[in-house]
Amino acid sequence: MIVAIDGPAASGKSSVARAVAARRQLTLLDTGAMYRAVTLDCLENNVDCSDEAAVTEIAKRAHISFDATDAGQAVLLDGRDVTGDIRTPQVDEHVSAVSAIPGVRRAMVALQRQLGANGDVIAEGRDVGTVVFPHADVKVFLTADPKARAHRRAAQRQGKDVAMDRSVQVDVKTERSVLADLIRRDRLDSTREESPLRPALDARHIDSSDLRLDEVVTQVLAAIDEVRR
Ligand code: C5P
Repeated sequence: MIVAIDGPAASGKSSVARAVAARRQLTLLDTGAMYRAVTLDCLENNVDCSDEAAVTEIAKRAHISFDATDAGQAVLLDGRDVTGDIRTPQVDEHVSAVSAIPGVRRAMVALQRQLGANGDVIAEGRDVGTVVFPHADVKVFLTADPKARAHRRAAQRQGKDVAMDRSVQVDVKTERSVLADLIRRDRLDSTREESPLRPALDARHIDSSDLRLDEVVTQVLAAIDEVRR
């Protein structure tokens, strides 16, 4: 079984995918983490993120894998744990430029299909239901209004695992800068030529702005169980 969860930045895809994976014994595939790892590789090697040929070379050469640990899923770049390093504001700033490069997408999509080939997978990203796994059994397009998304991401940055709780206090300045970054990334991700962020025609839309994490998870589980029945 393949479950595809797409949507804009910080819409809750990772939290939902993680919870659903645990409840239905699915392997988690965080495709955004892969684009982030390529971006980190470029930054660490002083490769200009707008140099398409050089970035494509990095993407082809990089060995990206996942490892299940007690603390959750670790992301490995050439065998090194980069789980924390790929979630910095610097990577946020450059990842959309890197992921818009056709050669980078080709390399990552090939790897994603390989990782999804054996077994039951829940994959999250921007083009999973449209490009990576167009025949996925369940497709979800998860959205939330930009303010709700910025609030969640700012809370996460401050070490608060709030999932989707809007009542948690966050630093206003952090929230404002996160909001600006989300809007910028959404625009770049939705307007690029190659595999833009958009819902698959057969995707189920869920707006999580006013839903709790468990409410979204329940909807996705129901969609999976409908298909499995
Ligand atoms: O999901 P996350 O915010 O970690 O993704 C980081 C970036 O990776 C996105 O802003 C987007 O540019 C890129 N991405 C993509 N296609 C995917 C997943 C992520 O282009 N399937």
